[in-house]
Amino acid sequence: MRRWNGWGQDTTDYPLPEPAAEYLADLIGSGSTTPDATREQVLGNVPASRMTADPLLSLEPADRLRHACGHSLPDWVAIRSGTLRTFPDAVIYAGSEDDVRSAFSLCRQTGAALIPYGGGTSVVGHINPLPDGRPTVTLDLSRLRQMRTLDDSNHVAVFDAGVCGPDLEAQLAARGYTLGHFPQSFEFSTLGGWVATRSCGQQSYYYGRIEDLFCGGHVETPAGVIDLPDLPASAAGPDLRQLLLGSEGRMGVITQAHVRVRRLPETDAFYGVFFPDWAAGAAAVQEMAQGGLPVSMMRLSDAQETETTLALAGKPDLTRWADRGLRLAGYGATRSLLILGITGEQRRARQALGHARNICRKHGGLFPIGMIGHMWQKSRFLTPYLRNTLWERGYALDTVETALPWAGALDAAGTIQQTLRDAFAAQNIRLLVFTHLSHIYADGASAYTTYIFPRAKESEATVAAWRAAKAAVSRTIVGLGGTISHQHGVGLDHAPFLEAEKGLAGIAALHAAFRTFDPEGMLNPGKLIAA
Ligand SMILES: Cc1cc2nc3c(=O)[nH]c(=O)nc-3n(C[C@H](O)[C@H](O)[C@H](O)COP(=O)(O)OP(=O)(O)OC[C@H]3O[C@@H](n4cnc5c(N)ncnc54)[C@H](O)[C@@H]3O)c2cc1C
Repeated sequence: MRRWNGWGQDTTDYPLPEPAAEYLADLIGSGSTTPDATREQVLGNVPASRMTADPLLSLEPADRLRHACGHSLPDWVAIRSGTLRTFPDAVIYAGSEDDVRSAFSLCRQTGAALIPYGGGTSVVGHINPLPDGRPTVTLDLSRLRQMRTLDDSNHVAVFDAGVCGPDLEAQLAARGYTLGHFPQSFEFSTLGGWVATRSCGQQSYYYGRIEDLFCGGHVETPAGVIDLPDLPASAAGPDLRQLLLGSEGRMGVITQAHVRVRRLPETDAFYGVFFPDWAAGAAAVQEMAQGGLPVSMMRLSDAQETETTLALAGKPDLTRWADRGLRLAGYGATRSLLILGITGEQRRARQALGHARNICRKHGGLFPIGMIGHMWQKSRFLTPYLRNTLWERGYALDTVETALPWAGALDAAGTIQQTLRDAFAAQNIRLLVFTHLSHIYADGASAYTTYIFPRAKESEATVAAWRAAKAAVSRTIVGLGGTISHQHGVGLDHAPFLEAEKGLAGIAALHAAFRTFDPEGMLNPGKLIAA
């Protein structure tokens, strides 16, 4: 069963090896291991529903708790500490487009807000009801999960939008295809959620981001239906798909999505490459991207992330041996690990590997180490489970991410880290912080920063520390000219910083568009843009 107060299935764990626990304690000390609230305690906080009984609605406290929040840090603190106070008044499990339309009618009659809900994996407050006095209904789309059609001539599949990653890939694999969209939340996030948040998968360099894959669909809005035809390309004015992508449930409910799929690849391999330092690695990935090398993934860790990855790998003997060998070969404290993915037809993959090897070697790369790539591949969707273990050991973990042009990108990543360090230091909290370039483009890269800090005894203190740091680092990111989000979206947490990117006129245009499709302001109010 899916955990009610943490990540993933309750049958899966990512244990923290003892040497890794010691490594963390040395770096940042120990945190509070105040016991979590029990499920019964949290269920006891669910207030009486303000909706009246209706066959479409579940008013069950367990359903309302399950849909009350996502996976942002404040969400984690609230649910684990039992201080979660905002719950939807009801949940609708839509089984058809008729149900979605009935949900609109019901909310219109009662003045309730309606929150479309995919897999609930948001990390920025997309799906939380607002404590604004208005009743809220959550529209769970997970029953809509069938592949409708797969067109072998166009390589376009039509899916119900509530389908989650593994279910979608299994239905495609049975016909010899893949979508190739693998965000780290793949296990639970859904196709509709990916479109609504402009999600980016780990192998987007090869398969494309969701905006490249999403080519049409069916959207139910309070003002009527939008049918987006899947055309290979069009010059017929502005593209409505682009308005829907990233609309975060404000414009309508995506019930079907048409996606570009590919034949299952002959090769899907990952390699580890060590560089003497992060700058050398960055020069190599920049050259590979600008040369159009057909690799599928480049994920380049800074020195601290490289060291932490090795420390947390859970294979102390192996990593000690690897560390000694690397040091002897001249890859010491500043070394930087690249995970390189090569995907596709075998002959092209071989060629790509050869080219990548030459470029990496030119920049001092030690290439390739298949075992490290294989270990990464095995744990690619398991790593989020570490957040459960860290929490139970007294640590909170969060991430910030942006995308920046190449010029000054590494310095900017350093400034982002320093902002976080300073913000936590101001509160006497030690911080472990590290970054990887997660997605590489010809004109820049996304910088994905993870930070871990000891939890305070009082949950309010943990959230207060996070809030101060989040505000400071968000200001830094937009001040550096980066986007407030390369992949997680805007939700509640990033909404105050959107204007820096869109401008006042841009925000007004988004308001006007949402009002056109949702004149009563029923859909997911307060997310993406205030009100
Ligand atoms: C451990 C972890 C790892 C992650 N890794 C990645 C990653 O690698 N790449 C990445 O891009 N993101 C990542 N995320 C963020 C998150 O998974 C994405 O934002 C994802 O796209 C959300 O999908 P979901 O189905 O869970 O949507 P939800 O969280 O349920 O909803 C997100 C938003 O989409 C809207 N929405 C959902 N479905 C629909 C629909 N059918 N119609 C209209 N609106 C809808 C909701 O109203 C909400 O505003 C990660 C999150 C976690 C917790």
